[in-house]
Amino acid sequence: MPQAVSTRRKQPASAQTTCVRNSGDSRLAANFKNPIKVLHCSEADAEHRKAKRQYAHTFHLRNVICVASAWINLPEEWKYGILLHEIGHLGAGQDASERSANKDVKEYIGVKIHYRDGKYGNRLESIKRSDVSFVESWLKIQGVRNAISR
Ligand SMILES: [Zn+2]
Ligand SMILES: [Zn+2]
Repeated sequence: MPQAVSTRRKQPASAQTTCVRNSGDSRLAANFKNPIKVLHCSEADAEHRKAKRQYAHTFHLRNVICVASAWINLPEEWKYGILLHEIGHLGAGQDASERSANKDVKEYIGVKIHYRDGKYGNRLESIKRSDVSFVESWLKIQGVRNAISR
């Protein structure tokens, strides 16, 4: 198994945007040919310290969703909501909007992303409680489990 190819940029793209984007190109379905990995990333931790609702980013490493350590302890509705949203970004590509990332999730996974305010952050992606077990199984089938099974 080849190592994830680094597309790391010199400058962290944290800025103020909710999600980091740079070099995506293919649709979600195409991405599924390669396993998506979930990795802890210290830059994600730094972004989370700056902006509470920031728990994850994509397009830092190829086919990798980087998460802050705080993401691990989120309740499942938020943990998976954020993860699916980031998977949507991988599919929708670097220039895609938040909306189109969520549209890809709905189209390819069949789960709707909701935004909720709360103690974990405002306007944070989440899924319905009733979607949790489906999403959990779906992620396992796709091999997206590194950080989840901890
Ligand atoms: Zn986003
Ligand atoms: Zn990262």
